Amino acid sequence: MPKRILIIYTGGTIGMKQTVNGLAPAADLMAEITQLIELGPAFHENPPQLQTLSYEPLIDSSDMTPEIWLKIAADIEMRYDDYDGFVVLHGTDTLAYTSSALCYFLRRHGKPVVLTGAQLPFGFPRSDARSNLISAIEVAATMPVSMAQVCVVFGSRIMRGNRVTKISANAYDAFDSPRFPLLGSIGIDIQFFSSLHTRAPEHPDLDVRLQLPEDNAVALLRLHPGISASMFRAVCASPGLRALVLEAYGSGNGPTRDPQFLDAVRQAVASGVMVVVVSQPLDGVVTFERYASGSGLAGVGAISGRDLTTEAAISKLYFLLASGASASSF
Ligand code: ASP
Repeated sequence: MPKRILIIYTGGTIGMKQTVNGLAPAADLMAEITQLIELGPAFHENPPQLQTLSYEPLIDSSDMTPEIWLKIAADIEMRYDDYDGFVVLHGTDTLAYTSSALCYFLRRHGKPVVLTGAQLPFGFPRSDARSNLISAIEVAATMPVSMAQVCVVFGSRIMRGNRVTKISANAYDAFDSPRFPLLGSIGIDIQFFSSLHTRAPEHPDLDVRLQLPEDNAVALLRLHPGISASMFRAVCASPGLRALVLEAYGSGNGPTRDPQFLDAVRQAVASGVMVVVVSQPLDGVVTFERYASGSGLAGVGAISGRDLTTEAAISKLYFLLASGASASSF
């Protein structure tokens, strides 16, 4: 029995056309995908049955919003029983935020949900669009059930949805997963590294009413030499702020010789702002106790984001705020 795969097209370079203002999303990709579907031989064995769902409007992913994350999650859940897997076509700029968001917002994880995009549009010479699309469909159709999860397929890599990050605006391997082992690789054959991975738990009956927080509920601040307590306070004073992702140094370290800075963090936490610390280096993991400068942040109530990427921390905070959970569930 052929696998049934739903392709959800949200926009992005993969389907863009040249306009006078530069590349912009275009609906024609669906015609090209339909052609690809009709040309069954693109899939050598057991070609899957493909169906498509195109969003209106198609967007450049720099226009992505938490509301659209929720829409994608709802569209998948609504059709969950009708398909064996899902492919989401997405712009690369914010793809890692959406793949992370789907890890948290989807309640069911028994089937692969594969995000992909491209560095060059479908019709361009040397475009990676066709190969990424075909690889994503194959992964959605063949990922072992024991590994089924939200993942990103791009270039030669298969990566966990909430550990992936965009590392290049140029290379065909535009994404990597430096804080978590790859789920598999794409070469002549598709290989799944199944011994390393299990799938996320499902919560199909979880009846949480999701209510997205207001705009500006989550902010991101990157530490740098010269940053001051007043800068931190100014960000925390922005109306509606409920959570802050703090990109700290190394293993979660921050300034220790500026008592006002730590005081500002303490006050933010006391006023109800969740302060989540992630690490700046690509492969960094927050281990507060390694340095006194990390203990400082922990001591004033900041939460360790451990091996979360910035993208995953932001989308997880949106999920926690939307579901009414508190800092203790981070
Ligand atoms: N600006 C584009 C987008 O994110 C870039 C891309 O798709 O590669 O939609």
